[in-house]
Amino acid sequence: MKDRKLLMIPGPIEFTPEVMRAMAMPTTSHVAADFIQVFGQALDRMQQVFLCPEGQPFVVAGSGTLAMDMAAANLTEPGDQVLVVNTGYFGDRFAAILERYGATVTQVRSRAVGDAPSLEEVEAALQRQGYKLMTITHVDTSTAVRADVQRLAALGHQCGVLVVVDGVCATGGEELRQTDWQVDLALTASQKAIGVPPGLALLVAGPRAMDAFRRRKNPVGSYYSDWTLWLPIMEAYQARQAGYFGTPPVNLIWALNTSLSQILGEGMETRVARHRRLSKAFKASMAALGMDQLPVRPEVAADTMTAAYYPDNVTASVLGHINQAGVILAGGLYPTIKERYFRVGHMGAVTPSDILTTVGAIEYGLARAGHRFEPGAGLDAAQSILLG
Ligand code: PMP
Repeated sequence: MKDRKLLMIPGPIEFTPEVMRAMAMPTTSHVAADFIQVFGQALDRMQQVFLCPEGQPFVVAGSGTLAMDMAAANLTEPGDQVLVVNTGYFGDRFAAILERYGATVTQVRSRAVGDAPSLEEVEAALQRQGYKLMTITHVDTSTAVRADVQRLAALGHQCGVLVVVDGVCATGGEELRQTDWQVDLALTASQKAIGVPPGLALLVAGPRAMDAFRRRKNPVGSYYSDWTLWLPIMEAYQARQAGYFGTPPVNLIWALNTSLSQILGEGMETRVARHRRLSKAFKASMAALGMDQLPVRPEVAADTMTAAYYPDNVTASVLGHINQAGVILAGGLYPTIKERYFRVGHMGAVTPSDILTTVGAIEYGLARAGHRFEPGAGLDAAQSILLG
């Protein structure tokens, strides 16, 4: 028996062998000539992956929550009004972080779990008072709901607010055109569709975000998050010079550069289309097995992941059976219903065979859990889309 299972949770994901080799290389100095080239190249490639050639990239050791912290710490000042477009657990987290830095937060929430607030509701909220900034969770990992970033950002711009997108479960898998869509700050983390083990907070700040940061009246309320300290370092490496503020996670940055090169080699449009097709195949298989999804309509469903309710009489213990078949899935996260559903990540280097393996393992688990269905129905549904 292999002692390795297929990791199909919504992050961390399965990484490519090239990325894993970069992680295992002898660690170089952070001021070595080859590392300076690699860090500089990774920063250039961030601009290309985010489709924001004029943006200022930041790559800092930390998780996605640090990227959110940096957005809040650098772009808001005590007393600023902020609007959070909330589609789940990570909207709540953004609100909590913003409040920690003294912002006054208003939230526009979905009417039901699995839905997204309508554009009209967000527009009405934006018109009610002057906000400095709004946040959008591109894909909320607790609900698998995808927000319409393009249209929401356009609304934000009409109302003169800075638009911040949490793309932790999206960037590198869902479509993002940061410049064209007028997203002022896009942030993510390494461990999901970017395809690098956990440990990097990744941000690209557009010109309006950098202006707002430069016009601050108060010092940034966090030392580690302060762009004043990180900006010279990013500028130095992008100019192919060394800089030091905090020791960069050298191997992770080698791995990031490798993964960004693979992403750009595939091409952003091809990559987004692959995620769309694999997601469609996986979601069709869940429906064929009689499972409803959290997102209430296909238009609000993510392509990087799926959240599905267990069938009647099946509990979270089915995840143990699925694990025995060799596939690791995640339980629910949204507090009020977390016992009732499970989550599957299908992003990054995911292949059609990963999808089929996962559907097969889910069928195995459901059968072991006593659920009655036609074995092979999920695989059939997935294949018909993969082969179509
Ligand atoms: N935002 C979203 C949408 C996420 O999915 C996550 C992580 N699951 C985070 C933020 C926080 O990232 P991290 O766990 O890396 O701190």
